[in-house]
Amino acid sequence: MRTLLLSASAPDSVHKASEIIRAGGLLAIPTETVYGLGANGMDGAAVRRIFEAKGRPQDNPLILHVAGPEQIWDLCSTVPAAAERLMEQFWPGPLTLILPVRDSVPKAVTAGLSTVGVRCPDCDITREVIRLAGVPIAAPSANRSGKPSPTTAAHVLHDMEGRIDAILDDGPCRVGVESTIVDLTGDRPRLLRPGGIGPERLREVLGDLIVDEAVTGILPADAVVRAPGMKYTHYSPQGTVIIVTGSGAAAARYILPRLGPRDRVLCFAEELALYPAEAASAYGAESEPETLARNLFAALRELDREDVETIYARCPEATGVGMAVANRLQKAAGFQIVKGEDAP
Ligand code: AMP
Ligand code: MG
Repeated sequence: MRTLLLSASAPDSVHKASEIIRAGGLLAIPTETVYGLGANGMDGAAVRRIFEAKGRPQDNPLILHVAGPEQIWDLCSTVPAAAERLMEQFWPGPLTLILPVRDSVPKAVTAGLSTVGVRCPDCDITREVIRLAGVPIAAPSANRSGKPSPTTAAHVLHDMEGRIDAILDDGPCRVGVESTIVDLTGDRPRLLRPGGIGPERLREVLGDLIVDEAVTGILPADAVVRAPGMKYTHYSPQGTVIIVTGSGAAAARYILPRLGPRDRVLCFAEELALYPAEAASAYGAESEPETLARNLFAALRELDREDVETIYARCPEATGVGMAVANRLQKAAGFQIVKGEDAP
């Protein structure tokens, strides 16, 4: 299969993209979070192709992308008041809601769960494609399973060339990490995955929010988890990732004596001067967690190309979107975290 590149600025791209969806094909879609690997969310056979193209385990459900809140009534059997408040406040935007699913949604989307994830992306062209196709687009991130999520069309092409029908290129993603996921089907709202919208902003609207254990710790392979994707290795570059905590100086005291010729430091811009220039790269400023989120996955992919052995990574404070950055880095590191060294 030849993978077609559609530019968002080309006049007929929305039409061509929606035709691919209607025909049961695979289309990589731009969103504000990361690029998604989309198919007609109401067509079980089309959705199963997503799993094949990604090499994704069948028990890891997909998110249905809609053009607006009105579309969720066909997909969800109940929509609590909390969901309406969140949609009003944050849609279109990087927030996925877990709600009870209707029978009309194919089992391949939900991995057989009684719930479904729905989201309205803050990306005009993708909402137009959904509207024109007339169906929700089921889409996980458009990377090969286990690899960092793609934030540019070039990343998608690298992972998916020859495996999907087309990529709709709308430039680099603005948020850079996947959506925040909130489960509204239990007694209390539950954060299943931190993302572009931090827990503080959700609490302002919801009053209450519990953070699932999957967000903070590694889970055993046989765990029954509410966000099934959370149990798999994720965001993993080829090299081993080790997170080093503490002040910039304390981290440098730990890292520098251990730094081999094929090791690299992924740090904050404020800390670059602490390391040899060829060994360190910054993925943004510690004072700007939004920038860290936008650049994280591209930085991990870049280190992969350099065939790096060990990546010593610096991780921001887990508040706001920093919580998502910390969570993705912890997963990339398989929760390998060491403490920086105090001054002697
Ligand atoms: P991805 O976009 O690749 O991060 O994949 C979508 C993720 O959404 C999955 O890995 C799950 O963690 C989550 N998800 C989708 N549907 C559900 C659901 N019904 N219940 C819980 N989590 C879900
Ligand atoms: Mg993913």
